[in-house]
Amino acid sequence: MSSSQESKTNANSNGLTNGTSRNSSCHSPQSNDKTTNLNEDFHFSELSLDTLRKMHSSFSTARNWDQFHTPRNILMALVGEVGEVAEHFQWKSDAECQVGLPSWTPEQRTALGEELSDVLVYLVRLADRCQIDLSKAVLDKMAKNEAKYPVEKAFGSAKKYNEL
Ligand SMILES: [Mg+2]
Repeated sequence: MSSSQESKTNANSNGLTNGTSRNSSCHSPQSNDKTTNLNEDFHFSELSLDTLRKMHSSFSTARNWDQFHTPRNILMALVGEVGEVAEHFQWKSDAECQVGLPSWTPEQRTALGEELSDVLVYLVRLADRCQIDLSKAVLDKMAKNEAKYPVEKAFGSAKKYNEL
């Protein structure tokens, strides 16, 4: 996560990012009532990053694609997929981007999920091809974020850590 991205990511008291962007039109401070997760039971199905790493590695090796999967090429693919995620939000109003995407059709939600998956797959693949232990790296980074954004200073604040 770059420092600019980091400055737009809030860490909650559990040390987990809540995915809200301080400058996003979909999550502006003015629409605070729309940033509450509407489904308290929402969760991801279980899947480890290393399981995903192995799955994609096997997928690539079976097709003799490892030769193309240099870190640079995978990064380019990742950036392209981020753009495909953005297309789903492009030109939509704040009302159409509420937490939980309640106005989206099942087909729109499935399409978004596929693009988010492409991003995750390429992110994990990039870390694999760079031989970065992404599971360890993300836990280490979240611990750093906890220290940079102590709850008593950061609670309800959109300021960057060095401005708190
Ligand atoms: Mg895609």
